[in-house]
Amino acid sequence: MDQHTLGTVKHALLHELDVALQRSCHQSLQDVMTALRIHYANVGPDPSPDEVVDIVLRHGILSLRPTPTVNRIRTSLSRWRMGSLGICARCGTEIDAADLEREPMRIHCTRCERRL
Ligand SMILES: [Zn+2]
Repeated sequence: MDQHTLGTVKHALLHELDVALQRSCHQSLQDVMTALRIHYANVGPDPSPDEVVDIVLRHGILSLRPTPTVNRIRTSLSRWRMGSLGICARCGTEIDAADLEREPMRIHCTRCERRL
């Protein structure tokens, strides 16, 4: 997957995360990051998207109120951190960029999606 698509998908995932946090704990992603920064010295003032994902997963933010959507987001963020975003979880081929842009939390290619 090209860098542009990857950037678009990452941006969309952070947006999904932000929406989910506001829905489940009435805090924006920025609020959560600010709260973490106050309590933990290792959270810097202006973390990159990669760092935000690492911090969110490391502090178990998404484990607090697990819903199906939150679980899907957590799976995608874990895949992001492992560098397997955009790779089919079943067969290992690249997921079509257009599919991924339309559905950022998608973890299977079209062929596997049909078989599941
Ligand atoms: Zn597949």
